[in-house]
Amino acid sequence: MPVYPTTGYMNAELCLNGHVITGDIENEPEKTSKFCGDCGGETLRACPKCSALLRGDHVYLGTITWMTVPSYCYSCGTAFPWTVAKIAAAKEHAAEIDGLDEAKRKELQEAIGDLAAGGARTDLATSRVKRLMKKAGVAGRQRALQGSRGCSVRRCQEADYGLKVAAPSAGSGVSSGT
Ligand SMILES: [Zn+2]
Ligand SMILES: [Zn+2]
Repeated sequence: MPVYPTTGYMNAELCLNGHVITGDIENEPEKTSKFCGDCGGETLRACPKCSALLRGDHVYLGTITWMTVPSYCYSCGTAFPWTVAKIAAAKEHAAEIDGLDEAKRKELQEAIGDLAAGGARTDLATSRVKRLMKKAGVAGRQRALQGSRGCSVRRCQEADYGLKVAAPSAGSGVSSGT
C-alpha cells in the first residue's frame, strides 16, 4: 500500500533534460534509475545548487495532484539544468536571427541570460525577451516568406516554443507581488 502524508509534497526524480522519472520516489522506488530511459541523461533528486529535494506529486488532504516540471528551484531560485539548456538554445537562436540590429540582439541575449540566472531580474527579463522576440519574429517571418536567407518559418516556430518554455514559467518562478 502506498503511504502518503495528509498534506505535502512527495519527492521527485528527474533527468537533466527535465523528463520525470517519478514524482513519488517513496512509493515508486522501482521506477528510479541512474539514467533516463527517454534520453540517457543522468537523473537527479535535488537542486544541484542548494540541494533542496525536487518537489514531486502534491498531496492535499488525501487528494494527489501529479507533479509538473518546475523551471526554477523553489528554494534558491536557480534555473534547473533543463531550463538552462532551453534558455541556451534560445540564446543561440537569438545570435542567428536577422530581425534585430546588433544592439537589440545583444539586449536580447542579456535578457535571456538574466532568465537563466533566475531571481529578482526574472520578471523584467521575461518582458524584455517577449518584446524583442516579437520584434524579431515578425521581421524573421517576413524574410522567410520572401524566401531570402535568415529565419525560416520552422526556426521562428522553434524560437516561439523556446520562449513559451522559458518566459511564462520564469514569471511564475518568482513571487513578484503584483
Ligand atoms: Zn531524459
Ligand atoms: Zn536550489
